[in-house]
Amino acid sequence: MSIAAKPTTYGQYTFRSQLEARWAFFFDMLGIRYRYEPKLFCLHSALYYRPDFWLIDHHCFVEVKGEKPEQREKMRLLAQKVRVNVYTFFGDVGIPDSRYCRGAFVDYGDDYYYVLNRASDPVRIRYPLVRPGQLPPREHPHLLNAYGRWGQDYGWCECQNCGMVVIATSNPTIHWQCACPEPLSAPHVMDSPRLQAAYRAANQSHFTPVISQPTLAVEVKAS
Ligand SMILES: [Zn+2]
Repeated sequence: MSIAAKPTTYGQYTFRSQLEARWAFFFDMLGIRYRYEPKLFCLHSALYYRPDFWLIDHHCFVEVKGEKPEQREKMRLLAQKVRVNVYTFFGDVGIPDSRYCRGAFVDYGDDYYYVLNRASDPVRIRYPLVRPGQLPPREHPHLLNAYGRWGQDYGWCECQNCGMVVIATSNPTIHWQCACPEPLSAPHVMDSPRLQAAYRAANQSHFTPVISQPTLAVEVKAS
């Protein structure tokens, strides 16, 4: 389903599309704090980029696309420049599902994984609260910086123990940091009743389109 990109008011913002307003509604349903189009970044001499959302508590940018983007050059450059993760959500608002061309991927700016060897698979715990220089790598060899990588199949998931909602991947070897003291044993699911209710409500919402004003023609005289 394609959603026409019409300016839409919701809450304190005018969004560029219904799709963006739906994601904002989804965030509000779950208490995810955000700023819309917080800043225009200069990526290099002639390339500017204004990401759609800044998620305050998740400390990341979110870009919203109606369709899976062909390339993610701007997201990659922004992640490298400001060293925070840039998530690109594409398709409509819902649980990641390739049948509906819906999903998300991440360009890692600066993100740490806690690496454990459990059986044959290394288990990684996302460790986003560690910032550059806080932990000398020699003393903490279990922390692996994801800087410069990217990943796919991301989506929102809820911890079934503490109720925290985080962006996660369907990769079963990655466990996500939440408020739990033992995140390894905490189940995180993408289709919890709370998440499903938020997706449903976001998709059923109707927002007020902004009526476009006729532009004033101004004659500029050469002086
Ligand atoms: Zn938890």
